[in-house]
Amino acid sequence: MVLKGLKRILDKGVFTRNEMVSLLGLTDPKDLERLRSRAETTLLEGLGKQVYYRGLVEFSNRCVLDCYYCGIRRSNDKVERFSLSKEEIVEAALWCAREGYGSAVLQSGQRQDPAFIDFVEDVVHTIKTESASENLPQGLGITLCVGEQAPEVYQRFFEAGAHRYLLRIETTHPELYAQIHPAEQRLQTRLDCLQSLQDIGYQVGTGVMIGLPGQTLEMLADDIVFFHDFSIDMIGMGPYITHDDTPMAECGSADQAAVFQLALNMIAVTRLVCPNVNIAATTALQAIKPDGREQGLTYGANVTMPNLTPTEVRASYQLYEGKPCVNEGRGECRNCLLSRIESVGREVGFDRWGDSTHFAIRTGAGL
Ligand code: SAH
Repeated sequence: MVLKGLKRILDKGVFTRNEMVSLLGLTDPKDLERLRSRAETTLLEGLGKQVYYRGLVEFSNRCVLDCYYCGIRRSNDKVERFSLSKEEIVEAALWCAREGYGSAVLQSGQRQDPAFIDFVEDVVHTIKTESASENLPQGLGITLCVGEQAPEVYQRFFEAGAHRYLLRIETTHPELYAQIHPAEQRLQTRLDCLQSLQDIGYQVGTGVMIGLPGQTLEMLADDIVFFHDFSIDMIGMGPYITHDDTPMAECGSADQAAVFQLALNMIAVTRLVCPNVNIAATTALQAIKPDGREQGLTYGANVTMPNLTPTEVRASYQLYEGKPCVNEGRGECRNCLLSRIESVGREVGFDRWGDSTHFAIRTGAGL
């Protein structure tokens, strides 16, 4: 049934929590098309049609955390652990710079030991120095995604040249957070980390998983309110997908098609509430539907992350079942993605960092 008053809600532009819940719960195809096209128009008018690449290097699956949903959690002894060498990571990043990607994301499981911290700092510094070129005078843009760290560590990484950081809050609902993590992993720690990242001067990214057992539309609406109120610059969200070797596998999963649509609705409503942020069309969308990332772009996303992880270790970085492209090389990912982006009427912003406009406005930079 078509939601009464949908046009009236969309025209308001500023939504109450209940209105967000109504938008997130839309299922009728005509309603969905209205929501989608409003989000797409907001993006195109505000930020343009460029899609920015962040070449993703998943450089190690060693992790000290034990998140109940994640395939590379500490207690999963079925996964073969790997860490790429400095040379391998730098080589992947330089390839990315040569291809015109503009930015890379270095992601790994969480470690806080000094050797790891020194290693990351050194890798970031080396990439910054070696990637500077005519096309990218300030070198490759680097986003780090290496979990919870002390403020001094975030500061060191920033000084080494990382200027964006991703740390998903996973859910802002305290009870749900407690259900999907061991007791020693606290929501407050993540909030403190996001705060110190913002204080240091990073462009800060966060996000949530969608379709977690027990998660309601109200909780997801609150997540969006959090993105807005915390003044988050970048958002990466995706469907929760079970992994057999995790404790949460026994909870089962929600209907995949429904979760997929809900994830698209989350992107659209987030775009309407936070019009200037960068939003990623994540790989987990593609794990459910082959054209999932392109659909994410048409619902208001403007960033995508081609996978640069060497093919030999991709299969060991399985956060969830059915992760796509585990047998493909980076060149195949590049070509495949470009045609997918063009197929939805968008273009790639090559050789640009593609920074968050929200960050520029929040900090007064570039205005
Ligand atoms: N250690 C880093 C990287 C974590 S993996 C960090 O803490 O930021 C990146 C993201 O994968 C996680 O934040 C989580 O949201 C997502 N993820 C993990 N397991 C998942 C699953 N089963 N389904 C969907 N997404 C998952």
